[in-house]
Amino acid sequence: MEFEPVIGLEVHAQLLTQSKIFCSCSTRFGARPNFNTCPVCLGLPGALPVLNEAAVTMAIKAGLALGCRINSQSVFARKNYFYPDLPKGYQISQYDRPLAERGAVTLLTGERQGTGNIVNYRQKKFGITRVHLEEDAGKSIHATGGDTYVNLNRSGVPLIEIVSEPDLRSSQEAYDFMTYLRRTLLYLEICDGNMEEGSLRCDANVSIRPIGSSVFGTKTEIKNLNSFRFLQKALDYEIERQVDVIRRGGIVVQETRLWDEQAQKTFAMRSKEEAHDYRYFPEPDLLPLTISSEHLETIRREIPELPEQKRERLVSTYKLTDEEAFSVAQNKAFADYFEDAAKASGNPRAVFNWMMGDWMRILKRDERDISESPVSPERLAGLLALLDQGTVSSKMAKDVFERMYQTGLEAEKIVLQEGMQQISNSAQLEVLIDGILQSNPREVEAYKSGKQGLLAFFVGQVMKETRGQANPKLVNQLLKAKLQP
Ligand code: ADP
Ligand code: ZN
Ligand code: MG
Repeated sequence: MEFEPVIGLEVHAQLLTQSKIFCSCSTRFGARPNFNTCPVCLGLPGALPVLNEAAVTMAIKAGLALGCRINSQSVFARKNYFYPDLPKGYQISQYDRPLAERGAVTLLTGERQGTGNIVNYRQKKFGITRVHLEEDAGKSIHATGGDTYVNLNRSGVPLIEIVSEPDLRSSQEAYDFMTYLRRTLLYLEICDGNMEEGSLRCDANVSIRPIGSSVFGTKTEIKNLNSFRFLQKALDYEIERQVDVIRRGGIVVQETRLWDEQAQKTFAMRSKEEAHDYRYFPEPDLLPLTISSEHLETIRREIPELPEQKRERLVSTYKLTDEEAFSVAQNKAFADYFEDAAKASGNPRAVFNWMMGDWMRILKRDERDISESPVSPERLAGLLALLDQGTVSSKMAKDVFERMYQTGLEAEKIVLQEGMQQISNSAQLEVLIDGILQSNPREVEAYKSGKQGLLAFFVGQVMKETRGQANPKLVNQLLKAKLQP
């Protein structure tokens, strides 16, 4: 029997507010332990939470961007559990009346061939169950020697939780969905998207069922996947494990599991029997959150063009393919750069090739972001113009670009200063070629008697004498003409 996986994700994203969700403490990362705290986020008796409007606005943006309905009234609830880094003994979250629900996103996703390429790109729609607001807990630090410390700087930092419908059907779809969420949050400028630092975290729920079946199997939940790669690997492992259990005649047990990167395995953390009963009830210290339709419209107007919209527009405006536009739209700064350079040069194809080739390579090499680039889009357009006019060859253009990047000067200045112009003057080249042919009579003979491959040898000689500056197309033409028997 063949099986298919069913996957749903629960994603926590830290919102980029200045202050915490229910108090005015700073959310700055890396402050002295327990420095950013007050009676509210320490959970001291009698301290009252006050809702941060900026967090609400950001959460609404996320909800709208993910196609959700924003509830005109939502309710905060206490989620009760005991944990040393949770000073109140409960977390303020939302439960049966979340801020946003019933959304959907449509994105480009593919299939992985073995461990290699992604093929069969297609549009697919995935349901979003809900987006709700909640506060983060603190952080326990287990020191060597057995002592545990707690840092409550993170306690009360605003989070949104995004829950997907169980619509994902492969680890690749989960990966594509997760990167889509990250891109969307970055475009909205409401989360820094840093998975390593924990600003974006993912729990993956997965079950399997026989292909063709319309009922779901029992799911397991893999907690705290803090990279896209781990998400994919953990799912692949877990899917195979469940298939194996069923094939051996066993049953999948509903449980929470963790990914062990060292062992490349998931392992059971707790079973359903040990699962928490959170005893949710409405938070008595906060009024229901009411959003007027005017307020909602104001926020809707602040939503920028989103990655998929940008991708479609790049396809129609600049004649890029879906996949090309996808790679440009992955990063907003990159896409802005592309558009500015494409407009300045009138040659989007050349800009695309340049950005995906040399530009990407240099940015990766130096671990830099394109937004801090010393080469403006207009200057890249300037270089492409020189290339187009034949002033520089494509090989020289690479060197010129590297120098533009190092010095911040324009292409034209560098070419003039360093005498890097391409030699496209036939008379000048002919003199040179005549000399070369004269000093290589045997090669000339051989060429004329049929060894056409020697053309490359002559081209090479010309290039050597001009330090690579001769126009290769012209050199080829001239040589062929002169070597005609
Ligand atoms: P729970 O009550 O265990 O928290 P939920 O119904 O709230 O489960 O779903 C939590 C997440 O698990 C959602 O992302 C949902 O899409 C996903 N999910 C639910 N049922 C299944 C299933 N049978 N297989 C895989 N994922 C599932
Ligand atoms: Zn505080
Ligand atoms: Mg749930």
